[in-house]
Amino acid sequence: MTPPKGRGKPPRHFVDLTPEERREAVAALGEKPFRAKQLATHYFTHLSSDPSEMTDLPAASRDRLAEALFPQLVTPVRTLSADAGATVKTLWHLFDGVKVESVLMRYAHRNTLCVSSQAGCGMACPFCATGQLGLTRNLSTAEIVEQVRAAARSLADGEVAGGPGRLTNVVFMGMGEPLANYRAVMETVRRLVAPVPDGLGMSARNVTVSTVGLVPAIDRMAAEGIPVTLALSLHAPDDELRSELVPINTRWTVDEALDAARRYFEATGRRVSIEYALIRDMNDHAWRADLLGEKLNARGRGWVHCNPIPLNPTPGSKWTASEPEVEAEFVARLRAHGIPTTVRDTRGSDIDGACGQLAAEEDV
Ligand code: SAH
Repeated sequence: MTPPKGRGKPPRHFVDLTPEERREAVAALGEKPFRAKQLATHYFTHLSSDPSEMTDLPAASRDRLAEALFPQLVTPVRTLSADAGATVKTLWHLFDGVKVESVLMRYAHRNTLCVSSQAGCGMACPFCATGQLGLTRNLSTAEIVEQVRAAARSLADGEVAGGPGRLTNVVFMGMGEPLANYRAVMETVRRLVAPVPDGLGMSARNVTVSTVGLVPAIDRMAAEGIPVTLALSLHAPDDELRSELVPINTRWTVDEALDAARRYFEATGRRVSIEYALIRDMNDHAWRADLLGEKLNARGRGWVHCNPIPLNPTPGSKWTASEPEVEAEFVARLRAHGIPTTVRDTRGSDIDGACGQLAAEEDV
């Protein structure tokens, strides 16, 4: 029986377990512990959880192990592509009927998956479609890693335009606030960066965790010793406006969030990204670019870069992207302050797959 939406825990999955726990789980099923390594190799090296592909295991063990340790946690129900097939958005059903989305983007020198870490989001940013949904629930580690495995496998199998490829980057910029699901997100990061066959063997610097600025969680992440890239969704340099755009700002202010970002840089050596959705006549004023440049420089040089993003439209929102010349002036001002600035290329806005557009709508 399917539990009610958003209730109950996802079934235990191999990926939720540490290597030691994987051996114990395999032994508890009456199998030799070394089978755990074979399963890990199938999963993380061959990107497979399909027992029919596990031909180095005895047929009877194969099905039993897969049934107990590889429950189907994410089921693709629809894919939409854009940019001549270089952007693919997948809608997933989770075990309890909850829906999330992920977006795979193919570039010349990297392939990036944007994953969801929560179904919905509790941060209520008014310009973000996910923020309008409220939070349904946190995703488990395996539910997040499964989005990654599926994308890596479809790239490897040549299902994405451009021929067979390798997944190089993961960004936690899909649905949800990753640092509000701290434990599962950090466990996911561990699975992504652990060398094969214990994990996917990705480089920590190619994993980006994007946050509204949950200060204690930023500090906690800085102490983990895994130098993932931190992105801070700032959107305004002044508290009055930021509290409207990013409501959690009433708990941790602009200065507190920027101080935490700076501490993250000091702890990890990783340059922090400042995300700034440019919203026409809201936050795109030249004086705000100057104030942002000053606040960043007050905390040192060379520790940060800025990623302005033209606002993507969301249903029911009165806001729209800045005029091109206003955007150009904003960027020029930041650069004049010496802040490296690149306007984010928005992918997939025609399939509601761009930043802030993920609402897991089935009937669009
Ligand atoms: N909750 C996290 C991660 C998800 S959003 C965070 O807020 O950082 C990923 C990025 O998309 C964030 O920088 C977010 O502010 C931005 N975003 C949200 N809505 C947007 C929109 N309508 N247009 C452009 N960017 C948007």
